[in-house]
Amino acid sequence: MKTYKIAAIPADGIGPEVIDAGAQVLAALEKREETLSFDLTTFHWGSDYYKKTGVMMPEDGLDQLKPFDAIYFGAVGAPDVPDHITLWGLRLPICQGFDQYANVRPTRIIPGVASPLRGVEAGDLDWVIVRENSEGEYSGHGGRAHRGLPEEVGTEVSIFTRVGVTRIMRYAFDLARSRPRKLLTVVTKSNAQRFGMVMWDEIAAEVAQDYPDVTWDKMLVDAMTVRMVKTPQSLDTIVATNLHADILSDLAGALAGSLGVAPTANIDPERRFPSMFEPIHGSAFDITGKGIANPVASFWTASQMLDHLGEGAASARLMRAVEKVCADGIVTPDVGGTATTQQVTDAVCEAIRSENI
Ligand code: NAD
Ligand code: MN
Repeated sequence: MKTYKIAAIPADGIGPEVIDAGAQVLAALEKREETLSFDLTTFHWGSDYYKKTGVMMPEDGLDQLKPFDAIYFGAVGAPDVPDHITLWGLRLPICQGFDQYANVRPTRIIPGVASPLRGVEAGDLDWVIVRENSEGEYSGHGGRAHRGLPEEVGTEVSIFTRVGVTRIMRYAFDLARSRPRKLLTVVTKSNAQRFGMVMWDEIAAEVAQDYPDVTWDKMLVDAMTVRMVKTPQSLDTIVATNLHADILSDLAGALAGSLGVAPTANIDPERRFPSMFEPIHGSAFDITGKGIANPVASFWTASQMLDHLGEGAASARLMRAVEKVCADGIVTPDVGGTATTQQVTDAVCEAIRSENI
């Protein structure tokens, strides 16, 4: 019996609702598998904690998380706390502090969840977006001068390093190689941005030398949005900067049916620190407390977590259960259904318990 220590950080809005749903599904899996168990510890950090203490997590937060095998994260964001405080106070310090430089975002159409694209069905859209997660546009460098004056200046400096770009490029080529089509699209904006982005293109070409079996091409990010909508079948693995991939993956989530099904994994490929698994969506305060948050993104990212922990069989079983429930039409209102979060969760737990899943 292998026991995994999981740090759960439900945080804000619908975060606690979808993490609670995920905990129920993990409990059902542990009963079914019999060879693994989960020891979940919940950390009540986030915007409420901030309103009481002035910080999103305690000063020694990273030290508290370090002994865990993985982090299962909900979402941050509250109507009465500025977004840059919630993001830079909790999620980004964990990603950057644990050097989770590869952000991996699988997107495919699950049968039962319709794409808004006409004629595009399951199988037509099956992508993994690799987002550089440690530097680039979110490196935190910049400043403001002459605040409030007409001549005020604000800068937001994008930092790209050879080490940072090379390691994410290798990660993306390795991932592309592991998928059946062995296809990689490298996204930049190197026509307008002549320094960091041209360096991306150069490093992509260098790294590609080591992957003769991977077919790769380059796209400018603006043209990429058009290709994602018009010919989703032409894409497979995609690598892009922190900002570009952030935007492209929200579009990808919407094209696959809903942001409520899109998962993400923040991975430290060298496994020095725990990696972090979370839905792509935010705290969705427009639906908080209504019991209708789609828990599928939370389940899917739990399946990514199981893969990362080396529990491939349990991960695949969880996804088969999710796909069966969606195909049966037991889905939440964001994807056209009438089920509640708890009804979807119960159905997935039931499917996990059934003989033939
Ligand atoms: P959002 O992702 O919270 O919501 C966008 C829309 O999608 C809303 O209409 C919401 O109801 C819907 N939605 C999202 N997840 C859903 C789910 N599981 N089921 C059903 N519908 C779902 O984005 P937003 O409204 O731009 O931001 C709200 C807050 O979340 C902000 O404070 C923002 O900063 C924060 N945010 C946090 C993260 C994160 O924690 N990683 C990511 C994005 C946004
Ligand atoms: Mn985002």
